[in-house]
Amino acid sequence: MQIQLIAWLAAALTQPLSGPAAPPSTDPAPLMTAYEVVQLAPGIHGFVWKNPLDNPIQGNALFIINDDDVIVVDTSLLPSTARVMAAELRKLTSKPVRYVVNTHWHDDHHNGNQVYRELWPGAEFIAHRDTREDMFSKTYDVRANDLANLETAIARYERWAATGKDDDGKELAPERRKRAGEIAALDRALRTLGGHRKRRRREGAGAGATEARRRDCRARSRAGA
Ligand SMILES: [Zn+2]
Repeated sequence: MQIQLIAWLAAALTQPLSGPAAPPSTDPAPLMTAYEVVQLAPGIHGFVWKNPLDNPIQGNALFIINDDDVIVVDTSLLPSTARVMAAELRKLTSKPVRYVVNTHWHDDHHNGNQVYRELWPGAEFIAHRDTREDMFSKTYDVRANDLANLETAIARYERWAATGKDDDGKELAPERRKRAGEIAALDRALRTLGGHRKRRRREGAGAGATEARRRDCRARSRAGA
């Protein structure tokens, strides 16, 4: 699945600003209930979002309950949703999570890792070494570019929303046109966060930390860690 976090975060940020008079939802977290836990075989359970392609996109997960412990495959897009997953797992078993497998680098499959680290400190995380490196290079490092290119993105999506056509002059489906306007609005909100990041970079914290993390990742990958 595609990376959705930046767009979704920005959407969340702009919610209070957008549109007139939408009454506040009486359901505090409808996303958190739109799933089911399905037994696939004895001891093997799928955590399945009912609409995984909704916004935000959510990765499904798998719980494999062994004699003494549990293997979890993928941890979803957000710590909050990972906590929902972990709570469901605890309904199935009191055995501890021993391994967490991340299938690939898309952030809807590993952003919830920290929750399993917090709940089961003994858990080990397993992924291909390329996945580990890709998590940094393709998931986290591109955030800086996303923020740096916000002005261009805002202009583009505002143009799409205003004209109903994409950069090639092709007519946009109504849903895509609406979405372009939403993305422009949320990107506008993200500018504030971008400014904050730039300040940190000037102070040397952000850039240094990112580079050090990348070096550490590469060194560990080479060492097979
Ligand atoms: Zn994916």
